[in-house]
This record gives sequence, structure tokens and C-alpha cells, in this order.
Amino acid sequence: MILLLLAVVGCKHAAPEVGLPEVGGQLTILHTNDIHGHYLPEPAEWLDGRPAIGGWARLDAEVDQLRATRPRKSVLLFDAGDQLTGTPLTDLVVDGSRGGAMHAFFETVGYDAWAVGNHEFDKGLDNLAAYTESFAIVTLSANLRGTDGVSPLLPNQQFSHVFERSGLKVGVIGATTEKLAGLMSRADFARLTLLDVETAVKAEVERLDPVTDLIVLVSHIGLDSDERLARFVPGIDLIVGGHSHTPMKQASRVENTWIVQAGSYGRSLGVVDLVVSDDRITKLRYELRDLGPHDAPREASREITQLTEDYADQLEEMFGEELAEAPILLGRDYNRESPLGRWITDALRDATGADVAMYNNGGLRADILPGKVTRGTLFNCFPFGNALQTFEIRGADLQEVVLKNAIAEHDQRRGFLPLSGVTWTWRVRSGAAELLDVKVGASPLDRDRIYTVATNSYITEQWEKHIGVPPLNLQETGQSDYEAAVTYAKKSRSLVDPGDSRGVKLQ
Ligand SMILES: [Zn+2]
Repeated sequence: MILLLLAVVGCKHAAPEVGLPEVGGQLTILHTNDIHGHYLPEPAEWLDGRPAIGGWARLDAEVDQLRATRPRKSVLLFDAGDQLTGTPLTDLVVDGSRGGAMHAFFETVGYDAWAVGNHEFDKGLDNLAAYTESFAIVTLSANLRGTDGVSPLLPNQQFSHVFERSGLKVGVIGATTEKLAGLMSRADFARLTLLDVETAVKAEVERLDPVTDLIVLVSHIGLDSDERLARFVPGIDLIVGGHSHTPMKQASRVENTWIVQAGSYGRSLGVVDLVVSDDRITKLRYELRDLGPHDAPREASREITQLTEDYADQLEEMFGEELAEAPILLGRDYNRESPLGRWITDALRDATGADVAMYNNGGLRADILPGKVTRGTLFNCFPFGNALQTFEIRGADLQEVVLKNAIAEHDQRRGFLPLSGVTWTWRVRSGAAELLDVKVGASPLDRDRIYTVATNSYITEQWEKHIGVPPLNLQETGQSDYEAAVTYAKKSRSLVDPGDSRGVKLQ
């Protein structure tokens, strides 16, 4: 099986020579974003009968079909980043890096370029450098720089690249989210310069404008930021976006810039058909094509089918072990308490014997669906492999964390930290959230006491944002949060929502 994989991986990016006779000025841009290691069809839990959708094979088949029905050499295929972290696939070391398994997919389907996302940094900057070094498609980011602020940060990284299609010169720029500082390790962040997107993109637009017919920005900055950028940087014809996981059914338009984005996890493919003349888009037709389940399955290439099956077999061996059963869904919620948030914090407290446990809602990456729970199920929920740590906190500071939860819930915004070992009641007075009562275990919170806390290394690294005070007496446990979840699932056998609401709003 390994030999077979190597043989397939060895076949690099052959630009497909299919399609109708060439036509000048007609261009098709296909795009994906935020694939996050998803490569198999997955059950759509929000659809009746939970049909399987997405997956590399389906995506490959759609791209082939679209290429065959467009003029030859008129198609560009982009990915707007966050290729990594989300399934066990991107934990394998392939092609010299963790995540390198993704290369063969992007290269075989024939992608032209991609923009670096924040999750590409999850396994460290050195890993990402190894990832781009052996990647055959064009790696883009205009604002990621080395410590000198000038040179590209990564091997093979370009700020922009000019492609020739349909007799047109298409300038393609990349952009990476400015929020990177709060989303990656501090030590790695100190090894790079992150320019503000507006300045970096504007410089590239000015450079490319005189020598190109069309300017496309492949961006991993999220839809709101794309819209702002379109307002402040003239000259971008089209933004192919990512990061906010937005399935845009229609292209949006801000000033003279079109904006599109194709959801996430390879469940859909964006299709932009353009007519370009006199340096601008004169006609645009956009479709967000769902990858299943409604139409007849299309035929994927042999390479992609083989790749998918080989990885599925290999990962089944590594992650297929059945640990427990989930009788009902354990879901997530970014802005408040959720069953999965309660479950994982209980697991961390159980693993360490700490008074309290906390987890970040943004770190819960998948729901646990009813049925068998395997290592793979838990890996998809907690894919970062962050270290499980303990630290100490003063009661008064813990109370502030709890208050922030009440405020986040009241304002319906992000920042709620799932907790275990703490319960509280709160209410709204004069439009503001206030705490009425906080208990640690069965006793009222003592503002002067020191409590022990179990959490993951992401939270302690980002303590300003999440804890508010530096973690005291920080200790490693030697295991990851995912490993603690595996142990707890095995022990429980049946995964149910702990059910006790930890924060209760009183009128
Ligand atoms: Zn992202």
C-alpha cells in the first residue's frame, strides 16, 4: 500500500489539456477554501437521511467535467487556504511534512495556486516551511514576510503570480488573515512579520495593474475583511475568499470588486464564468456547486480514487478503534455553553484532578454524531493535539473569567469559555450582565483561594484573550487534550451530554 501511494504521489501536476476550442477573453475560475483535511464524503447531518457529500473524488470529478465543457486553457483553479487541521489525514507525515498528504490531491486535481491560511501554522512554522517547499502549486501571500519585513516567509512563497489563460494575463495575489497573532504559537509569531493586508495588497495591485488584464485576490481573511478591502483598495476585479467558511450562493459586489467564497470542508465548489475585455470583467456568472448528493455521481480520476482509498485504509488502521457509543448528538456552539464543551472540560478535569477545567469553543471542530465513537471521531473534534496542562488561578481572577462568560452569552458574541467544576447564576441589570453567585464544586467561590485549572496549551499561550492573567505555576501533563478525550471516552463507554447547565441566567 505504501508503494502504491508513492507511485501516485510521484505523479505531479500535469496541466489537463481538455476542453472546447480556445476562445479569447472567456475565463473560468474554480475555487475551494477551508478544506481542513477533509477528503472523504461525510454525512450531511443537517439533511434528511444524512446523505454523504463532498470528498476529493467528487471534487475531482466536478473539476474534470467543468474543464471539459469550457474552452481549452481557460480555467484557473484556486484554494483560499486552511488546507490543514481537521481530520487525522493532516497529522500524517507525507512529503516531508505533517499535512503533506494534501499535496497529491491539489496537484493531481490540477490546482494553480493557493493562499496561506492561519491553520497552516498549527503544526509550527518549520512544518509549514517544509509543507510549501515540496508543494508543486503556487503558494501565495502578499503580507506574510520574514523578520526583515521584506522577503517572503516561506520557501516557494510568492506575493503574487501572473497566469496566462484565454489570451489574458491574470494577476493573482494572496492574503493571510491579520488575526494570525491570536491564532498561532507566540514563539513562531516572533519569527515572522505580518504586514497589514491593505498595504501589502495595494502594493501588489499597483505593480500588477499595468501589466495584467485582470486582478484576482485569493484571500484567507474572511468575508467582512474582504468587503472592507474591496472598499479601500481599488483595482481588484475578483476576491476568491476563505476563513469565514461562508457558503456564498451569490457573488457579492462592493464598488467594482466581485467577492465569492465556497463554504468549507470540500462540500462545494465555486464556479465563476467571466468575460474580460478592456481590462475589466464585462460579464460574470457565478454558481456555488454543491458536491452531492442530488445529482448522479460523476467519475473521479483513478489517481484520486486510489489516493482516497489508500489513505482511508491507512487511517482506519490508526484511528478506527471503537472507544464508545454516543446515543445522541453532542453538539457545539461558538457563543455559549454546549454539550461538547461540557463533555471535553469534564474529560480534562477527570484526567488531571484539577478543581476546574476550561476549553476554547473555537477549538471544538466537529460534533459527535449519534453512533460509534472511534479515535477518528474524537480526533475530528479536537484535532489540534494541543498539550494538556494545569495551572493555578486566584479565585478573584477565576470570577472574572466567569463574568466574561456571562457577558459573552448576553452579547451573543464569541469568547465564551466552556468550564467544568464551576457553576454560576447571572442576570442582566441596566443592560449589562452581572454575576449573582459562583460556586467551585459545592462551595462558594473564595476570591482569595488558589484553584487548580486544567486546560490546553492554546489557552495558556493566548492567556490575555482567554484568562486575563498569566497562568501561575504552569505544568505539563505529558499528554494532549485529544489523548485525555480518548481515555475519558473509553472509561465512560457511553458518551452523553453531562446535561447540567453550568451558567444559569435568572430574570
Ligand atoms: Zn482560517
